[in-house]
Amino acid sequence: MLNLVLFGPPGAGKGTQAHFLAQSFNLVHLSTGDLLRNEIAANTDLGKLADALISKGELVPDSVVISMIEERLKKPRSTVGFLFDGFPRTVLQAQALDKLLMKHHSKVSVMLCLMVDKKELIDRIYKRGLTSGRADDIDLATIEHRIDVYNDKTAPLISYYESQQKYYPIQGMGTIEEIAENLKHTIQSIQKKHTHHL
Ligand code: ADP
Repeated sequence: MLNLVLFGPPGAGKGTQAHFLAQSFNLVHLSTGDLLRNEIAANTDLGKLADALISKGELVPDSVVISMIEERLKKPRSTVGFLFDGFPRTVLQAQALDKLLMKHHSKVSVMLCLMVDKKELIDRIYKRGLTSGRADDIDLATIEHRIDVYNDKTAPLISYYESQQKYYPIQGMGTIEEIAENLKHTIQSIQKKHTHHL
């Protein structure tokens, strides 16, 4: 299986690129951010809990997102692999993902990290907020807080995957098409190098 973790700070363009990648490689796209926003839109109990945290720029509890992913992985389907977008976001989530995939006799193939400057991240999120209607995109203090939470809780996953030789930094500044090409070439060259592993 080809299981990709698309990684990077908020505003790095994970959602945009995930869309292309899932299409190019025929992967099932799983975005915890999208799944949580669906819960919020449906006004479920989980949605209410998530909304309160997300609008403050906090992470949703590990147990919540892990069970959401667990549910999706349980669904029987024939796919060449999964594209995880916005998950894992903590070391605990990464360990849980490893365990879940192991149950399905699989593993994370590659972690692709979109590299974008902090100033550019803030600009992009703020601009997105003007049209997205996302409460967490409008307020500058919340945006800054999300980046701090990323540095504090999520960035440690870089060494988690680096120590397993799965970490691939990708230039995340440039046009959407350039970045998409970068990602695609990186995956293809990894596939060529490790055909027997992936
Ligand atoms: P972005 O990457 O731009 O922050 P996402 O859609 O990935 O956007 O996530 C939006 C918010 O949803 C996050 O700030 C966080 O509060 C919550 N969230 C998404 N995925 C997770 C996760 N894996 N663990 C905890 N919280 C999450």
